[in-house]
Amino acid sequence: MKLILLGAPGAGKGTVAKMLTAIDGSVQISTGDILRGAVKEGTELGKKAQEYMNRGDLVPDDLIMGIMEARLQEPDCANGFLLDGFPRTIPQAEALKALLDRLGIQLDMVVNLDVPREVILDRLTTRRTCSNPECQEIYNVKSKPPKQEGVCDKCGSPVIQRDDETEEAISKRLDTYNEKTAPLADFYRKEGILVDIPATSSEVVVNTIKEKLGIA
Ligand code: AMP
Repeated sequence: MKLILLGAPGAGKGTVAKMLTAIDGSVQISTGDILRGAVKEGTELGKKAQEYMNRGDLVPDDLIMGIMEARLQEPDCANGFLLDGFPRTIPQAEALKALLDRLGIQLDMVVNLDVPREVILDRLTTRRTCSNPECQEIYNVKSKPPKQEGVCDKCGSPVIQRDDETEEAISKRLDTYNEKTAPLADFYRKEGILVDIPATSSEVVVNTIKEKLGIA
């Protein structure tokens, strides 16, 4: 499947994407995960992106398009991909459209995960993430704690609160989302490929996506 997952930070895009990869071998592509990996490894990209990320601001479009142009041409994308956290601005959506046209790739649909702001705020302040860039498993101190406190069940690395998950940065990220990313729903609605799904539980979201794609 070839999908874009739209939704505010904390809407559950990452969790849903991970569940969908298990269905048909499509790969999850999260620009946030790629950027956090680059910051941790101290690469040029990471150095450029870090300040924007810690403030809760978006990283400039040209850096993001550089990442995505290379990533979408890697061989594992041939099985399908789930774009999680990208595109985030209208210029990114337009650049993606041109890129996909050039590569001869057609999207199946764009899923818009709809979650009330109070739910998002609660989820993000209680969210914890595996610090290993290769893993980045998501936990929640209330609803899904790791078996051993502070240690990832999957890879044993420390489970941490992200630098951009302080109350101040979260509030900034939600404002940025409303201003820059929410308009993408209309962009894709006009393209005729948008599906709105109320994101109450990840299982319901995944089942709805499967139904719409005609997968049993
Ligand atoms: P995420 O994990 O998707 O919430 O992303 C974390 C942070 O990485 C965001 O707050 C942005 O600073 C940056 N980021 C991730 N994806 C993008 C994107 N498509 N465009 C611009 N900045 C991004």
